[in-house]
Amino acid sequence: VKTIGVLTSGGDAPGMNAAIRAVVRQAITKGLEVKGIKRGYAGLLQEEIIDMHAQDVSDIIQRGGTILQTARCMDFTTPEGQQKGAEICKKHGIDGVVVIGGDGSFKGAQKLAEHGINTIGLPGTIDLDIASTEYTIGFDTAVNTAMEAIDKVRDTSTSHERCSIIEVMGRGAGYIALWCGIANGAEDILLPEKYNYDEQMIVNHIIENRKRGKKHHIIINAEGIGHSTSMAKRIEAATGVETRATILGHMQRGGSPTCKDRVYASTMGAKAVDLLLEGKTNRVVGYRHGEFVDFDIDEALAMQKGIPEYQWEICRNLSK
Ligand code: ATP
Repeated sequence: VKTIGVLTSGGDAPGMNAAIRAVVRQAITKGLEVKGIKRGYAGLLQEEIIDMHAQDVSDIIQRGGTILQTARCMDFTTPEGQQKGAEICKKHGIDGVVVIGGDGSFKGAQKLAEHGINTIGLPGTIDLDIASTEYTIGFDTAVNTAMEAIDKVRDTSTSHERCSIIEVMGRGAGYIALWCGIANGAEDILLPEKYNYDEQMIVNHIIENRKRGKKHHIIINAEGIGHSTSMAKRIEAATGVETRATILGHMQRGGSPTCKDRVYASTMGAKAVDLLLEGKTNRVVGYRHGEFVDFDIDEALAMQKGIPEYQWEICRNLSK
């Protein structure tokens, strides 16, 4: 491997810049050249390819978003698009690509590998919904952003003795909701993996808590369940307790990455380069049992994970 390309794909996540910086600087340190591919696979097909030097990634480790921009690209899901993508890599002398994104982006990397381009995937998503790893780039920042926002809603909710439904991101996965459930001491936590759509149970819980003198009632609702505003209206009607919905939305994707996201993303970025130098391809980097590891992409995509049962149990026990 002589020249490495790096791209970010799918949803953005804080820490992606730290990963890009690490790929560029580790590669240069090891005597390789680096090219930045802008706008994910869409930019690859449009040949939006730039040379990257050590200074091109200065002053970005602390910034959210991704300096390479990101996109979703339908054309790259077709065999013609994938063939074209691989040819463009070869034309620009790119013989290894680091793809930072989620499962969908890994499938794209798998296709490039099939066409002879060495590829390494890095898990970049705020949702933590990648089965092969216990850590994804951006989750720590997003969950801290959500936690701080929920604390603020809780202050005003308590003053006004309201019930608050706060919707957090995560798409079909409830990890942000679970972590905030524990970190914010929420009274109810609705996760796509666990919720049985029994609103009466929530209504009873609110009424019981009021009788015990609780001044607030925080419900964390995962994005995968949604409908927070209509839920608030129904709960207010059933309980007589003023109930408001707050949808945190895209604020959770932005902001300066936490120390953990910077350090882990940097480590993963450097490891991706080292794997390419070892001649590895079709691999994804992950973090498991306290170590940075790598798996075959096919194997990683076949893995499954769910909400850890013990964490879910304590989440409910502690919210009494
Ligand atoms: P996030 O979960 O943060 O949204 P993701 O990587 O899972 O990230 P997707 O939109 O699923 O996001 O995928 C990003 C891009 O990867 C797609 O727009 C497409 O270009 C490419 N991709 C997805 N699936 C495939 C596939 N089966 N084959 C080739 N490329 C794919």
